[in-house]
Amino acid sequence: GMKIGFIGLGNMGAPMAANLVAAGHTVTGFDTAAQPDGITMAQSAAEAATGADVVITMLPNGEILRAVAEQIHPAMSAGALHLDCSTVDVDSARAVAEKAQAAGLMAVDAPVSGGIGGATAGTLTFMAGGSAEAFGIAKPLFDIMGQKAVHCGASGAGQAAKICNNMILGVTMIATCEAFALADKLGLDRQAMYDVVSTSSGSSWSMNAYCPAPGIGPTSPADNGYKPGFAADLMLKDLRLSQTAAEAVDADTPMGAVATALYAQFVEEEDGADRDFSAMLPRFRDRHRS
Ligand code: NAD
Repeated sequence: GMKIGFIGLGNMGAPMAANLVAAGHTVTGFDTAAQPDGITMAQSAAEAATGADVVITMLPNGEILRAVAEQIHPAMSAGALHLDCSTVDVDSARAVAEKAQAAGLMAVDAPVSGGIGGATAGTLTFMAGGSAEAFGIAKPLFDIMGQKAVHCGASGAGQAAKICNNMILGVTMIATCEAFALADKLGLDRQAMYDVVSTSSGSSWSMNAYCPAPGIGPTSPADNGYKPGFAADLMLKDLRLSQTAAEAVDADTPMGAVATALYAQFVEEEDGADRDFSAMLPRFRDRHRS
């Protein structure tokens, strides 16, 4: 097996690291707060990185990633791989990859889709940016922690794919929820609405796989009182990353901007932070035209 350092053992990192241990790899972890069972923990990020073939980071944001990279890069062996699986801004991903290269290391940005359930089951999707050689080193680890890994391009391409995907997700969820609320007020039965849309041109993952209406379609957080799932405040984080990126490259993303504003209102003014992002349906149902 490989010698792996794993920094950031929270909701996602802990089960990902557990799957690497179960597959026979030697994992040394570090986290400033979490103390997960079954992972050998180091006293510092640098200690966890020392002598590792691969150091995986799974951290909250780009600022923390940049700080941790400063700590681990000097400790890593020449030619070792820094594999960042956090969701961060494209600029931070590229900056960290450049610093790694300057230090004689390899780097891959590989944010994930699939949530805590996917991390636990080892069925995440990885979207990766970096050289073909670096992707090849990470691939056996992707195969343990996930079911699909797409090499999207050079450094930053993984983060770019992630925020584009999640911008579509935020927009289609809102569109699906406002359409259900309109259907309610038109007296249209929700099951009929689902049966039509899920097999018509309005279909999407938000309708078909994660239906925001309780009791309709496959089981989803709507059937569990809108407990996350995928919390609205995490959706907001990803939408804001999409808008930061859009601004930086002068891309016109009006639907993404509206979705960001609606989730910001939901999270910051309407107690939506800890609710699933599909709780936009009761939000729209209870509102009037403004
Ligand atoms: P989390 O907050 O549960 O875990 C982050 C961990 O990082 C925490 O345990 C925290 O103590 C640790 N940490 C913070 N600063 C640190 C430092 N300086 N050194 C070492 N450890 C430090 O978050 P999570 O849900 O595991 O998410 C991690 C990343 O994955 C985020 O970027 C998130 O956007 C992304 N993501 C999450 C989900 C999800 O469903 N939770 C899905 C896809 C992607």
